Amino acid sequence: MLRQRIAGRKRYPLVLMLEPLFRCNLSCFGCGKIDYPDAILNKRLSVQECLDAVDECGAPMVAIPGGEPLIHREIGEIVKGIVARKKFVSLCTNALLLEKKLHLFEPSPYLFFSVHLDGIKEHHDKSVCLEGGYEKAIDAIRAAKAKGFTVNVNCTIFDGHPAEDIAKFLDLTTELGVGVSISPGYAYERAPDQQHFLNRRKTKELFRKVFALGKGNAETFTELMEATDWDVYGTGRYEKCANCMAHCGYEATAAEAMMQHPLEAFGIALRGVRTEGPMAREIDLSKQRPAQYVFDSQVQLRLSEIRANEALEKAAKEAAKGATKNAARTSASAA
Ligand code: SF4
Repeated sequence: MLRQRIAGRKRYPLVLMLEPLFRCNLSCFGCGKIDYPDAILNKRLSVQECLDAVDECGAPMVAIPGGEPLIHREIGEIVKGIVARKKFVSLCTNALLLEKKLHLFEPSPYLFFSVHLDGIKEHHDKSVCLEGGYEKAIDAIRAAKAKGFTVNVNCTIFDGHPAEDIAKFLDLTTELGVGVSISPGYAYERAPDQQHFLNRRKTKELFRKVFALGKGNAETFTELMEATDWDVYGTGRYEKCANCMAHCGYEATAAEAMMQHPLEAFGIALRGVRTEGPMAREIDLSKQRPAQYVFDSQVQLRLSEIRANEALEKAAKEAAKGATKNAARTSASAA
């Protein structure tokens, strides 16, 4: 980008959208990319045509959508050739063939899979018109990550997708450890379903709701108690809780246990804590979910809010000062 700026180029490509085919093994209700006669769907770009396009265009990033690129028999060579040119490759896929075709690729800082995942199960399966499409995508994401590939998800949102479900989906992607590209569906003129595309206003309102949900801070205590998924916290459920024995958590647990087993508690009060014999059984940690390190992002989020508010306050002060000055100047010239 710096080079383009220095060269004074106003228009230049950052990403080349390279579509080596339009054939797909799915027919999603919002897709207008596959409604072509067979003569067109059977067409394929050759490896050389793809690499020539990459060289001619010069963009530092190449996104390979389709149709379904993994249907292309030479997709491995195409990606290899682009990576060898040190271009970043976003290989878009609906994941149905991903696990089967992983052997065609090598993990590289220049390659990431962009898996089509339009939300949590009910929304994804509906969007791709395939029962079980969600599980296939999740399994493929996990398989690719396990083999050391970088994975991103590409999510298209249609009208009627509740903000709460989008927030759940974003939390899921955090747990999966994948990046997210998310946007409202593009109103393809040849998409089978023309009723569910979001307009700009609705899109803004929807994502405001989503991000409000994501602000972490519950507005009220009731919301904190009701909106928090408590079952994903605690020793044995969350890696960060594995060794925690902090009083803020455990005192309440001890008080609760005493209420449930008052006689036992009375015994301990009389005899004191047992210091011999077998310890209490350890809590099974095998099913705990991995730790999420969100501190920095929360701090940055808070800092940006603080700075934004400070800038607003400063602007308001200056505007007020300016207004006072103008008022003084006006009354002076009137005088
Ligand atoms: S959206 Fe993607 S996966 Fe779905 S039909 Fe279109 S090209 Fe295929």
